[in-house]
Amino acid sequence: AGGRVVVIGGGFGGSTAARVLHRAGLEVTLVEPAETYYACPFSNEVIAGLRPMSAQAFGYEGLRASGVTIAQTRAEAVDGAARTVRLADGRTLDYDRLILSPGIALRFDALPGYDAAAAEVMPHAWKAGAQTELLARQLAALPEGGTVVLSVPGNPYRCPPGPYERASLIAHYLKTRKPRSKLIVLDAKDTFSKQKLFEQAWKALYPGTLEYVPLAAGGQVTSVDSGAMSVATDFETYKADLACIIPPQRAAPIASAAGVADRSGWCPIDPVTFESRLVPRIHVVGDAAIAGAMPKSAFSANAQAKVCADAVIDLLAGRAPATPKLINTCYSLVAPGYGISVAGVYHPDKGVLADVEGAGGTSPVDAPDPVRRQEATYAEDWYRTITSAVFG
Ligand code: FAD
Repeated sequence: AGGRVVVIGGGFGGSTAARVLHRAGLEVTLVEPAETYYACPFSNEVIAGLRPMSAQAFGYEGLRASGVTIAQTRAEAVDGAARTVRLADGRTLDYDRLILSPGIALRFDALPGYDAAAAEVMPHAWKAGAQTELLARQLAALPEGGTVVLSVPGNPYRCPPGPYERASLIAHYLKTRKPRSKLIVLDAKDTFSKQKLFEQAWKALYPGTLEYVPLAAGGQVTSVDSGAMSVATDFETYKADLACIIPPQRAAPIASAAGVADRSGWCPIDPVTFESRLVPRIHVVGDAAIAGAMPKSAFSANAQAKVCADAVIDLLAGRAPATPKLINTCYSLVAPGYGISVAGVYHPDKGVLADVEGAGGTSPVDAPDPVRRQEATYAEDWYRTITSAVFG
């Protein structure tokens, strides 16, 4: 059976879904305003001067060449009852099923002093592009002996290990280029992804350069002042020469416009089909979705988009979708040639995506150097493979 599907967002989730649906012979339109997509994975290497920004840029020629119709404009509104999407270019698209993968919005109302203007002084660089380049320039211009402050939010947020990879690579930059400088990491929580592995690496590689302050030691940032270049916790005010503030996040605005975000700011979904719990015939994948135990990663967005697109194909054909199993792997670099990873397997259980007991795990804590080097290579290979599958 036919069926019109609209996909909003041409990132890791949306581009994947559009490809799968098109391959199955469905009429699909991908709505994405940007001409170039800047990928976040490996953008921490750009910040540390280890990689050019061009390695993060992907166009949509590949998707177009494979036959996917792209509306190069923004989706402004969704009418879930009439099943229409209003586009910024004035058009309206009808759909039988709608898939949203719009990613995140930075919450500029969550941390006193941190708004869009402050982000131009104290970058978040949590969406790749101009912000990544700004932070890279600031780091390159940091005076020797300067202090860098990195603020990490509480859960949930895009890419759980990302802030700690960033801390590691900034510390690597300081150690090798400006050895009298210091990085202070202020965290709003006490435990984090791959914590043992990160802490072990920091102890071995960056003593005296990287200072980590967890919640219990007063790490939660309560306000920032971009004029005074200061970052405050309940206990102390830190003066910074460079401040990277990763604020709390929520699903991108189109999710609330479509009525699929709940009061948490994220989108509750059915774990088999990724259909919204709030509006029928709208599905949400990727960072915007509440995917239970699955972390918000490009790997997850890609895996969820495949499952969701297959479910949409089944639903439009009047078939019951199969119960899925999903996988995620997140690599992090703690230094060039030093990679670590965490992997998980997930399945629908009691209405949510839950860990499959006994599956997955992290890199061994006591692995020898060659294993770390190999994992750094796997990370590179993963990036090449996923970006060519999604955008190539
Ligand atoms: P996105 O990739 O953000 O795509 C959303 C798209 O939707 C965007 O192109 C946007 O323009 C578009 N959009 C938004 N609103 C609209 C609208 N109204 N109309 C039309 N289009 C719209 N993940 C990993 O798996 N491995 C890693 O190593 C890794 N490293 C990371 C490092 C950093 C520093 C960061 C910040 C993230 C990292 N991630 C990593 C996470 C990964 O980038 C995200 O999880 C992933 O991009 C999520 O995909 P998505 O499709 O949900 O959203």
